[in-house]
Amino acid sequence: AGSGLSADSYRQRHEITFSGDNVPAPFSSFEVTGFPPEILREVHNAGFSAPTPIQAQSWPIALQSRDIVAIAKTGSGKTLGYLIPGFIHLKRIRNDPKLGPTVLVLSPTRELATQIQDEAVKFGKSSRISCACLYGGAPKGPQLRDIDRGVDIVVATPGRLNDILEMRRISLHQVSYLVLDEADRMLDMGFEPQIRKIVKEVPARRQTLMYTATWPKEVRKIASDLLVNPIQVNIGNVD
Ligand code: ADP
Ligand code: MG
Repeated sequence: AGSGLSADSYRQRHEITFSGDNVPAPFSSFEVTGFPPEILREVHNAGFSAPTPIQAQSWPIALQSRDIVAIAKTGSGKTLGYLIPGFIHLKRIRNDPKLGPTVLVLSPTRELATQIQDEAVKFGKSSRISCACLYGGAPKGPQLRDIDRGVDIVVATPGRLNDILEMRRISLHQVSYLVLDEADRMLDMGFEPQIRKIVKEVPARRQTLMYTATWPKEVRKIASDLLVNPIQVNIGNVD
């Protein structure tokens, strides 16, 4: 009961609400995460003193391999919210990166995809995680070479990933951790058909995490189509 009480007071203080069954208590500090030492070292080197609220609540859920819809504003630390459990998933699964990525992150723009890639490289380096970033407006050659070298994580905009899939230059059959980042923006930009085509190439047995700043009916619809019994986490007021 004591831990339940502290979970509730942490959630109240940080405006965390959720829906779903058996939602684990938030990780109120890095010490309680149980993250591997090399990841804790990177977090420490970055100068972070505590998890952000979205990290605190979504990490224990993601580590249980459950689907998540997280609704939180920009700047709330969502990227590491899904990347660190993705690193831990990679350690558990140990696929051959030459056969395709295990973690796939879809992002609306080249700029955002590049930022996610930078974060993945910085925090995944000591875990020896390989990553490729695929986006339009740049030649395909170097991106194809990155894929061929072997990748644990692919961060991609839906348009470019779809082009590369149609060329049959990437396989998504090993993907078991799928992230839709800024889902509302991807839908606003008209990427829904590409997202649905991509997800058809990803095995149904997977963990799916969706991050969005807003929760309109189009986003609710794609969440109900692509996620299985997700826990919904909200930080602050939701519009
Ligand atoms: P969002 O995707 O929610 O807009 P980001 O993941 O881009 O937010 O994070 C915003 C900034 O906060 C980044 O510079 C990131 O490195 C930093 N950040 C992430 N986690 C923490 C933390 N626990 N403590 C302090 N800063 C953090
Ligand atoms: Mg973000």
